[in-house]
Amino acid sequence: MTDGEHARPVDDARTAELAANLRAATTRLDAATAAAGRPAGAVRLMVVTKFFPAADVVRLLGLGVRLVGESREPEAGRKVDEVAAAAAIPAGTRFAMIGRVQRKKARTIARWASEVHAVDSTDLTAALSVASLAARDAGARDADLDCLVQLSLDGDPARGGVPPAGLEAVADAVAAAPALRLAGVMAVPPLAGEAERWLELAAQIHRRLVATHPDARELSLGMSGDLEAAVRHGSTCVRVGTAIVGPRPLTSP
Ligand SMILES: *Cc1c(COP(=O)(O)O)cnc(C)c1O
Repeated sequence: MTDGEHARPVDDARTAELAANLRAATTRLDAATAAAGRPAGAVRLMVVTKFFPAADVVRLLGLGVRLVGESREPEAGRKVDEVAAAAAIPAGTRFAMIGRVQRKKARTIARWASEVHAVDSTDLTAALSVASLAARDAGARDADLDCLVQLSLDGDPARGGVPPAGLEAVADAVAAAPALRLAGVMAVPPLAGEAERWLELAAQIHRRLVATHPDARELSLGMSGDLEAAVRHGSTCVRVGTAIVGPRPLTSP
């Protein structure tokens, strides 16, 4: 499939708004990457579309977005189905699950997700492995499921993630699990405290993991408000929602 066949941006006011926001976010990311002395394209831009409709995802794909983040199942799986029904999904498009995953949802997530950013236990790892194998047998996926181990920087279990001391064990489990690939580490810095310190800690822990797992190159770090700082600390994937799709409804968690 060539790009011309599926790049059909919907031509309406919302598309124009998304296009302008996407341009601004891309400009910020490019500037941050250059300012950090890192090569162009070193950091992936994920557009987080949770709480926004499938129509927005279709618009974003038309605008060239190829990495889309969702955080809640079953909303996410239904939305991916709607997107696929509305438009040919461009080759190379990846949908990422970035929210907490309940083990019982692993099966459905493995049908639509290319990558999962919030793997935080060996139990979840086992469930995702079984699910990825089953999805492959069913013809719903052909590649291993890329997994990022979510690091809990402050050890607060409510935010999800595994404390630094437990990271290696979960990473080892992912690396050994059939149909999964250990891709790296994800973190959401706590709201309290100095952001820079949390970002540096995440980067440090990630460097330690890469020493034993050289393929775990991804550091998923940075959102609308802190992407510049995250890129300075070595992020390879920023997850941007609000700055591109707009504020979430007040009912969001
Ligand atoms: C919603 C969400 C984001 C996007 O945050 P914004 O501040 O809207 O850019 C990033 N990461 C995770 C895990 C999220 O749930």
